[in-house]
Amino acid sequence: MFLTARRLFDGRTPQAFDDWAIAVEGGRIVDLGRRTASLSPAAVVDLGDATLLPGLIDVHQHLAFDASHDPVASLQSLDDTALLRRMRLAAQRALAVGITTIRDLGDRGYLGLALRDSFRSGPEVGPRILAAGPPLTVPGGHCWFLGGEAEGPDGVRQAVRDRVAHGVDVIKIMATGGVLTTRYGPHESQYTRAELAAAVDEAHAHGLKLAAHAHGSRGIADALAAGADSIEHCTFFTAEGVDADPELLERLARSDVAICVDGAFLPGADAPPADIRQRVDAIINNHRTLFRAGGRIVCSSDAGVGPSKPHHVLPHGVVAFLPTIGMTNAQAITATTAVAAEVCGIADTVGTLEPGKDADILAVAGNPLEDLTAIHDVIAVYTRGRQARPDASSPR
Ligand SMILES: [Zn+2]
Repeated sequence: MFLTARRLFDGRTPQAFDDWAIAVEGGRIVDLGRRTASLSPAAVVDLGDATLLPGLIDVHQHLAFDASHDPVASLQSLDDTALLRRMRLAAQRALAVGITTIRDLGDRGYLGLALRDSFRSGPEVGPRILAAGPPLTVPGGHCWFLGGEAEGPDGVRQAVRDRVAHGVDVIKIMATGGVLTTRYGPHESQYTRAELAAAVDEAHAHGLKLAAHAHGSRGIADALAAGADSIEHCTFFTAEGVDADPELLERLARSDVAICVDGAFLPGADAPPADIRQRVDAIINNHRTLFRAGGRIVCSSDAGVGPSKPHHVLPHGVVAFLPTIGMTNAQAITATTAVAAEVCGIADTVGTLEPGKDADILAVAGNPLEDLTAIHDVIAVYTRGRQARPDASSPR
């Protein structure tokens, strides 16, 4: 099969010429370049005045949460069979807008792994899923109800080994409290630096990356010092507002830790919540500082945790959040494709359009390098060379 279109952005380098063809075989890109007259029309899917992009990668979702006002109660009302069915629909809605890879950073009962495997080997078309299983948290801590309670360096190591035995793709740990659970505030640390270091060490010993959820500055600093691969949220929350120590900002920017900001919100869905809204300007300022200083910033969604966070919301973060911290259109797309793939440790398979990589392709009308809102205008989505079902699409 050949996909042809007017423009192509491979995820790294804007191209000067028009009229492209990508040859896809066995789910992979085998060749790409300028369209030639010799292509057999029977083998060509011509997408017309479109731009071919790498599929988008959302490095932080929760497929088990339903993006309602009370996702926790909703989760607890479902048994695993019903929950898995709902997760499947959420993943397919994400795929329909071009999100071909979802990193699920916290489920219940390892259901994200079951879903991953069904999309990988079954007849159903779904996005690639990297799943963490139940996130590590202290007893009674942030999202304890997902089943990941663990404490002390030994307890944390054992919890990582349990997840490895289940076959997870990534380890998620709640370094600080969060918004969904009230025992620890987002600014308060849950784990010590020694516990975080034990989790990182055990994860790395098994070849896995560790994603640390951290809002408060101490949690952020401890996760950085412990060697976490990514810091999720990174809001610098205090009890009252937002306060980032310039010295910590500089250390973050100089390190190669990924800063995964859940900057995608659905416009109009009373987004973001009132208590967050007043902090947003300060958060954006800090991330602008981090980006200018060379920090490795990626936009994610934290999809599922509230009404402004449906599972297909990521493109809004590309259009609305990343430019506000100073990214060009090309940089915003690169952050959400090529860089996001590196953050997930899958850059050898996805993230850019090049021969040898999986055919995870998003075709949009127009030219997103000139007008980023073009990425909302989806013409077709392919995951491993298979086209996503249009009926799974959802209003934006
Ligand atoms: Zn989350």
